[in-house]
Amino acid sequence: MLVVEDEKQIAGFIRNGLEEQGFTVDVCDNGNDGYVLATTQSFDVIVLDIMLPGRDGLSILRNLRKQKNAVPVIVLTARTELDERIEGLNLGADDYLTKPFYVEELIARIHAVARRASGEQLSILQAGDLTVNLITREVQRGGRPVTLTTREFSLLEYLLRSPGRVYTRTQILEHVWGYDFDPNTNLVDVHIQRLRKKLAGTDSDSPIETVRGVGYRLRKA
Ligand code: CA
Repeated sequence: MLVVEDEKQIAGFIRNGLEEQGFTVDVCDNGNDGYVLATTQSFDVIVLDIMLPGRDGLSILRNLRKQKNAVPVIVLTARTELDERIEGLNLGADDYLTKPFYVEELIARIHAVARRASGEQLSILQAGDLTVNLITREVQRGGRPVTLTTREFSLLEYLLRSPGRVYTRTQILEHVWGYDFDPNTNLVDVHIQRLRKKLAGTDSDSPIETVRGVGYRLRKA
């Protein structure tokens, strides 16, 4: 995620909220740097404040779209900025939020725009008898509810994006934890074990497979 927001407190609470969800977050406090980041790096979603020092949010958005950059953008506006909100949507913002807002609301919007952007219509991911609702974050295995921690959920969501595909420990680490770790850490293995245990429930059969020497994958069915 890229968050372009000059109010430190708001930027901080967004960063914390998103990182708790396992997102990797870059925060930028001015429009000029925000524009450079947005145009030179690839992000899943950009959260863009309108009133910024330097280049303003609408100008960033206008230029992104002019360059045919379709990255999902959620615009943040103040309560009084109705015109900006409308202009933002006209310029190709995917959604907007009026300050103040709950970070949970932002997270729900992020999931929604990211899903729309990837062309998926459903908020429910499935593989075999495993069902994950990305909005309510409910997980079920064979109809039995499974309670996961935030990390375990992110891990499962990542594997579920492409059942059958093998993900290396490094890929999982980078995506779910989002920062550089000692590649020898056993963080991934420990969390996979916990996730397996929870998903297996009473039968000992887990949908997560180890591919020796490579990494892990979720069984297709
Ligand atoms: Ca601002």
